Amino acid sequence: MLVTTKEMLLDAQAGHYAVGAFNVENLEFVMAVIKAAEDKHSPVIMQTTPGTIKYANLDYFAAMVRVAAESASVPVALHLDHGDGFDRCMQALRAGYTSVMIDGSHVPFEENMALTESVTKVAIAMGVPVEAELGKVGGKEDDGPAVKGENPYTDPDEAEEFVNRTKCSSLAVGVGTAHGVYKGTPHIEQGVLKEIRNRVDVPLVLHGTSGVPDDQVAEAIKNGICKVNYATELRQAFTRGFMGYMAENPNNFDPKKPSKPGMEEIYKVVASHMDNLGSTNKA
Ligand SMILES: [Zn+2]
Repeated sequence: MLVTTKEMLLDAQAGHYAVGAFNVENLEFVMAVIKAAEDKHSPVIMQTTPGTIKYANLDYFAAMVRVAAESASVPVALHLDHGDGFDRCMQALRAGYTSVMIDGSHVPFEENMALTESVTKVAIAMGVPVEAELGKVGGKEDDGPAVKGENPYTDPDEAEEFVNRTKCSSLAVGVGTAHGVYKGTPHIEQGVLKEIRNRVDVPLVLHGTSGVPDDQVAEAIKNGICKVNYATELRQAFTRGFMGYMAENPNNFDPKKPSKPGMEEIYKVVASHMDNLGSTNKA
């Protein structure tokens, strides 16, 4: 069934596990992710960025995920990832998304709070939870490699004030991760995460998790992370399976054939993360 992320993340918080949020790019991603969730008996979040919505649109993804959810034996939520403004969040609500993120992390603290509050006031009244972001996750959410440089951590004092004022349902935090492909091994600042956890009681969200070692993610879950986002690894998996087939069958012109190993690669990645996040058998 299609549900919101509210209960899902509060259950995860109470049960000390995390729910995987997997970015879906097309029908094949949706089918591969739902199959893994069903086989693992795991709750699952499927999400789309503004870049992905530009490729298709909100209505296509809402329809695909709704169909997947209706026939699934596990709870499924559809989330707007990195909502880039009030209007986009409203469009997602109208399209039937059951969870939205408003990303005000690029603007100053006060502006971020005001922007987030504008969305929570409407969305929460409609029963749809809102994820906000404070502090910076490195890299770029839609394309390109992770960039080195500025990656300020979320300030625990600010986090407390932010959550109290905006009434956001969950909070994405900057604790050392970055979007895209890492150069070298990433490092989660578990101490910062613990300090934030001590000040804030909403579920915390980890972005840029593709390529982060499983043991660091498991440790972060102990320190309050309840939603873990994976995008890049799924893109890599699909392309690996697809291109592998085409390398062996260069004359093939049926897109269904290479898509099948593409889906199988996504399935393996998603199923393995569900085990590590602890969401397996929690549906
Ligand atoms: Zn992100």
